[in-house]
Amino acid sequence: MKKYIGVDIGGMSIKIGLVNEEGNLLAKTVVKTESDAESVIKTLGESLVRFLKENGLTEKDIEGVGIGCPGAITGATGVVEYSNNLGWKNVRLVDGLKKYLDAQYKISNDANVAALGEVIFGAAKGYSDVVMFTLGTGVGGGIIIDKKLYEGNESKGAELGHAVLVLGGEECTCGRKGCIEAYCSASALIRDTKRAMLADTESKMWEYANNDINNVNGRTAFAMARENDESAMKVVENYVMYLSESIMNYCNIFRPEAFVLGGGICGEGKFLIDKVVAYCEKRHYGYQGTPAVKIITATLGNDAGIIGAAALLV
Ligand SMILES: [Zn+2]
Repeated sequence: MKKYIGVDIGGMSIKIGLVNEEGNLLAKTVVKTESDAESVIKTLGESLVRFLKENGLTEKDIEGVGIGCPGAITGATGVVEYSNNLGWKNVRLVDGLKKYLDAQYKISNDANVAALGEVIFGAAKGYSDVVMFTLGTGVGGGIIIDKKLYEGNESKGAELGHAVLVLGGEECTCGRKGCIEAYCSASALIRDTKRAMLADTESKMWEYANNDINNVNGRTAFAMARENDESAMKVVENYVMYLSESIMNYCNIFRPEAFVLGGGICGEGKFLIDKVVAYCEKRHYGYQGTPAVKIITATLGNDAGIIGAAALLV
């Protein structure tokens, strides 16, 4: 059975995993993300060599190393041009790693990798055309056409979170106003939750946050909406509206078979998904006479980054 190495580079830690062709994680190790790119390359390169050895393998036993990394990356050259999370500019990551382990490398943006992983091994297995949102601090996007990643010129496309949803709307991290990210990310949800609490001092959300607005997180509104708190329900209703309208925009562009939602906010599970599906169904997913799109949650969980990175080599 074929084996792959998947690497998930995050701001705090780097996860390395051995994955088989069924998408099972056979072994895993985690190393700290060093503060500068050169140290990251050294630590990761040495860890890859050690990890293979510990598992009784050499580079000949694996198909290659897949890497998921936050930021703007050119897949063809293996260069990370810019990563805000890591504080990197023009890092020749793949060239650097080859000095330690001579293997085939494939690299892509973490949101792309998450989407590919769900199609090859996860929730969207069996579908060919899939769009995914990763609902975290920001909104990441991934587009799979015919079971292959669509990344655009120099792999810089698929920034689905930075399409404008509300003209002249909320400020976005990208410099534009009214992007999907400025309404559907956890940061946006927290902002809207705080506003709702300030407008309603009787809301149960105050009690949930121990009467300190700094304790508000992405779960606050959902938790109290489940308790039928009106202000919380309104926050959730608005969130569902923005998210569903964004999904329908991409359904009309790509008409995928499935739309996958991943990231922290999807921990709300059925409570969120049922509302999104109901909203979209009422509006025929955009227009009449077109096939409905299956809206599903990601299933790869905590190791999605590793398994998705390995999927780059499949
Ligand atoms: Zn934006």
